[in-house]
Amino acid sequence: MNACVSDFARRQEEVFSLEQIGSIQEAAWLALYRYAFEKSPFYGEHLKAAGLSPHSPPSLADMGTLPMTDKDCLSERTSEFICVPDRQVVDVVTTSGSTGHPLVAVLTEADLNRLGYNEYLSFRCADLTAEDRVLLAVTLDRCFMAGMAYFLGLRTLGASVIRVGASLPAMHLETIQRLKPTAVVGVPSFLRLVAQRASESGFDLVGSSVRKLVCIGEPVRTTSMELNKIGRDLEACWGAKVFSTYGSTELATSLCECRAGLGNHIHPELLYLETVDEQGNPTAPGEEGELVATTFRMEAMPLIRYRTGDYARLISEPCPCGRLTQRISPILGRKNHKLKVKGATLFPSTLQVVLEACPELASYVILVRNESDLSDHIEIKVCWNAGCGEHTARLLRDRLQAEAKVVPTISEASAEEIESLQMPEGARKRRFFVDLRTKARE
Ligand SMILES: [Zn+2]
Repeated sequence: MNACVSDFARRQEEVFSLEQIGSIQEAAWLALYRYAFEKSPFYGEHLKAAGLSPHSPPSLADMGTLPMTDKDCLSERTSEFICVPDRQVVDVVTTSGSTGHPLVAVLTEADLNRLGYNEYLSFRCADLTAEDRVLLAVTLDRCFMAGMAYFLGLRTLGASVIRVGASLPAMHLETIQRLKPTAVVGVPSFLRLVAQRASESGFDLVGSSVRKLVCIGEPVRTTSMELNKIGRDLEACWGAKVFSTYGSTELATSLCECRAGLGNHIHPELLYLETVDEQGNPTAPGEEGELVATTFRMEAMPLIRYRTGDYARLISEPCPCGRLTQRISPILGRKNHKLKVKGATLFPSTLQVVLEACPELASYVILVRNESDLSDHIEIKVCWNAGCGEHTARLLRDRLQAEAKVVPTISEASAEEIESLQMPEGARKRRFFVDLRTKARE
């Protein structure tokens, strides 16, 4: 064990003052800088090449002068990021590679403790306590980090864990009836499927013991922070409060929102976030940008100024819950999903905000293809509710033009066709955006 990681005692304070947050982060940063310089072959070389010395660490305020790394670099040079000998590694995780860069990450005993501690703090944001019984509806195996992280976090919290995992909806319903969980951790589209099965079989989900749904992997809020369609559906069908989370395997972190639902709270002792523009310059406070992360107290694979590829806003205003920690907005989009239309750029989520607000729409999927080197062609396949049609399509086109500043092609499709585009065979996550461009732009 080293000074960089040290103990993960359960902190009792839920609210830190801004001074406390500053001093916690400054100390964690100094420990990380010295540790990475000494132990990580990658950072030793990388920081030295930038003219830095292990004996004169820049302050946190000067962090912006340090070089950044990204997913390509991490996946190509993984072994050089590792700071510990093989015998200290206790778990190996992989990402699904859904963004084109499958990654391998290794964790030590201290890293597993950090993972559990992080998740414990996140569950506390969702007001979970040792009194809760939590049904885990996510896979705990297949080398994924998420399920294990939730399990460890609930152990740290002292809650009872019911590990149903990625099982059939009927088994979840039977478990809810028999073991009476108070909360469920799961993927939104799967939780909606469970609700559909409940409705088909006359199971009273609203009257059940479940009061909270911690939603992972898919957005439940629009970029303007309101619940999106699936978020609203879940609250209605389950009679439970929905909590959104943001998670990343590389950062070994997930962040949960509190009851106010105004962004996901950052844990200052574990993570430092910045936002930058495409050229890597810091964006103005509160402006959208690519999240750049520095992870504190990681032993095997700490990261300094890592470009996540995720675009969001950092929120610094105090939260109604009383916490003064920064929060991140819902993710606006991924860097390689950025669309280019007649000189302007936008994320599919901008279109989704308009689509989600359209009550006539039963389901949709956004398809994007190359039109030219400078522009993408956007097609939205829609399935209308009964009684809607051409007139509604015109209204939707007008709304998209006014609010998203684009005029996509809107074409009608059957519910089955849209379902097969959203969930192709073997897909792990439902997708509302299908990128058919021959080369996704960076
Ligand atoms: Zn809050």
